[in-house]
Amino acid sequence: MEKLHTVDELVSKREELDHKGLKVGFVPTMGALHEGHISLVKKSVSENDITIVSIFVNPKQFNDKSDFENYPVDYDNDLALLESVNCDYVFMPDGKDVYNDYNGVSIDFNGLDKILEGEFRLGHFQGVVDVVYRLFDLVKPYNSYFGQKDFQQLAVIKKLVEYKGLDINVVGCDIVREKHGLAMSSRNERLTSTQRNDASSIIELMKKFSSRMKIGDSTEEFSNYFMTEMKKISEMRPEYCVFCHPESLEEIKIIEENSVIVMCGGVWCGGVRLIDNIILEF
Ligand code: AMP
Repeated sequence: MEKLHTVDELVSKREELDHKGLKVGFVPTMGALHEGHISLVKKSVSENDITIVSIFVNPKQFNDKSDFENYPVDYDNDLALLESVNCDYVFMPDGKDVYNDYNGVSIDFNGLDKILEGEFRLGHFQGVVDVVYRLFDLVKPYNSYFGQKDFQQLAVIKKLVEYKGLDINVVGCDIVREKHGLAMSSRNERLTSTQRNDASSIIELMKKFSSRMKIGDSTEEFSNYFMTEMKKISEMRPEYCVFCHPESLEEIKIIEENSVIVMCGGVWCGGVRLIDNIILEF
């Protein structure tokens, strides 16, 4: 695996790969890699000639300064994991280089970036879109891989590609979970072992309440159950629980026959903010 540290190094490597006619898969990450990230890398390695992974803790997408400052960093472990799954290139730029001569991109997402996570993390998706658009431009991937854990991010990136007419496939990948169900996240490292145990209640409650839902039911009742039960667990402070359309993410109020609905939630566990979702079919 080769390490690329600067935009210039990446651009010249990318030209070389282009001349050889190689199909490139791309996995953007913020590092502190775990099995969730690695599942995306494995998929890319199996579906492309070359896989490029970026590790860049993008300051623009953090609405909370202390979250940015405490974001875990473990380059040695990241590099060892990427080597172990035959990643070809890792791009590890610094912020000045990424945002040199680039101020971001302006797109009207018709509200998609302002609801759910966008409501609680002001400016978050603007930061995500800014960095992903820049990385797409540099890496020019054929396929790009994103986790369904960040369901709204995946929806926003699909819209970015559509609105900008980019010739890039956006591949959504299944959520990888810890033993007791908690969605893997780099931020889980900041949980105590008790908090980590308690945090598995997010998916447990999502499963419990969604399994009781039937066609014709009002979803509000079930989000209220989720919020109420969640608040009973010490250190858990739910911010939202919403049932949405899988593409527009518009809120679904009543369950209709033959519909697919995503149940999305954002919950604080102590000082760590966690998100999760499940896809429901009726
Ligand atoms: P991050 O480093 O948090 O920006 O994540 C990089 C990519 O990995 C994003 O597309 C995430 O959705 C994805 N990812 C993070 N955690 C998981 C997980 N538990 N399962 C699947 N994909 C994940």
